[in-house]
Amino acid sequence: MIRYGLACEAGHAFDGWFRSSADFDEQATRLMVTCPVCGSPKVAKALMAPALSQGRREPAPERAPAPEPAPRPDAPANVALVDDGASRIRDMLREFRTELTKNSEDVGERFPEVARRMHAREIEQKTVHGRASAEEAKALLEEGVAVQALPTFPDELN
Ligand SMILES: [Zn+2]
Repeated sequence: MIRYGLACEAGHAFDGWFRSSADFDEQATRLMVTCPVCGSPKVAKALMAPALSQGRREPAPERAPAPEPAPRPDAPANVALVDDGASRIRDMLREFRTELTKNSEDVGERFPEVARRMHAREIEQKTVHGRASAEEAKALLEEGVAVQALPTFPDELN
């Protein structure tokens, strides 16, 4: 049996099975092959699109690995930049500290005690500054005393 793709004069496409090519020709000549849609006996083999050859695909070539990005050069002039920035920041910190302590009383080593008593409202509230060790400052913060660390500078540590 041969299967033919057929089409009538109206363009209806359908399949027909025939014993042979000659069988189809004979049946068609006798108008025995009719369109199942419209009944037209004027049918012909539909043009069959040839199977499109996919061709032989070459295997995809190995992709060359992406080139390594050029190593970033070490930040240039790092020391100079830090020095320049640090001096500006130091100036800003000095200003910051000056502003904070402008109207502040220097209570020196008594700072933790003064801060606690002010926090407990045992003494008048005012702005004070002084010295506190890291442990003392941490303890004050844990007690709810809002202490603000002031910047110190290397040239003031002695
Ligand atoms: Zn038809």
